[in-house]
Amino acid sequence: MSAVTDVDPEFRSEMTVELVRSAARDSDVLFAARVSTLGEQTLDDAGSDADLEKRDRGLINYLMRDRHGSPFEHNSMTFYVQAPIFVFREFMRHRIASYNEESGRYRELKPVFYVPDATRNLIQVGKPGAYDFLPGTPEQHAAVEQAVHEQSLAAYAAYQRMLEAGVAREVARIVLPLNLYSSMYVTMNARSLMNFLSLRTKHPEAAVPSFPQREIELVAEAMETHWATQMPHTHAAFTKNGRVAP
Ligand SMILES: Cc1cc2nc3c(=O)[nH]c(=O)nc-3n(C[C@H](O)[C@H](O)[C@H](O)COP(=O)(O)OP(=O)(O)OC[C@H]3O[C@@H](n4cnc5c(N)ncnc54)[C@H](O)[C@@H]3O)c2cc1C
Repeated sequence: MSAVTDVDPEFRSEMTVELVRSAARDSDVLFAARVSTLGEQTLDDAGSDADLEKRDRGLINYLMRDRHGSPFEHNSMTFYVQAPIFVFREFMRHRIASYNEESGRYRELKPVFYVPDATRNLIQVGKPGAYDFLPGTPEQHAAVEQAVHEQSLAAYAAYQRMLEAGVAREVARIVLPLNLYSSMYVTMNARSLMNFLSLRTKHPEAAVPSFPQREIELVAEAMETHWATQMPHTHAAFTKNGRVAP
């Protein structure tokens, strides 16, 4: 029986994270904060980030340190993300964000599957909530790769057989595995992003350590790199104050 899709199966290990739209500057924090003391329009006086003075940076740091969080909400960043479904499942637990994801009901899903690469640690040690992960042996990596390839291809073949038999996409898709890649737009402001980063990155300067799954951490790290280019002083204050979301 011929395949429904002409696309060859693809196995990949990396995540795609692009900042596709941004209205996010350090000075957005300042105009929002200063209305509380000036009591008048502060947006026009906000200036550009290039004009930021020492006292401006000090104000950002004070707001972060004392957890005055709302001035960090007057900005917006939209990311385009391609990642496996098991990453999206964790991602969408973060409710203070806006999401739109590709549909498995309206389109045929492409055979693109996640497989851990050689740098992915495989051995879990420690206790629940604070695991460490150590490198796997070559034999373990080979076992993972073989199982992922076999199961992904078998599941996708079953998906195609159902589509060829005229079964609706929303039913056929139920056999597809969690390592299938999906795509979405996610929009966050700096405050919600900081909450996400505090939980989904493991960082030496974190006052409250977190132990995220490595694959969502890869997405979080790429988002943080983009954010740091948009709001460098806010990002620096976040790290300086223990990476606690204000
Ligand atoms: C390492 C790790 C392990 C995890 N393990 C599990 C697990 O085993 N099982 C599991 O189910 N989940 C697990 N989670 C998910 C976790 O419980 C959170 O659902 C997820 O991290 C989203 O965090 P959040 O609620 O702070 O984010 P958001 O939903 O974005 O919320 C941000 C903040 O808004 C406030 N807020 C949002 N909604 C409410 C509300 N309804 N009521 C009050 N305040 C609200 C809170 O202050 C919250 O911190 C895990 C997360 C991590 C990072």
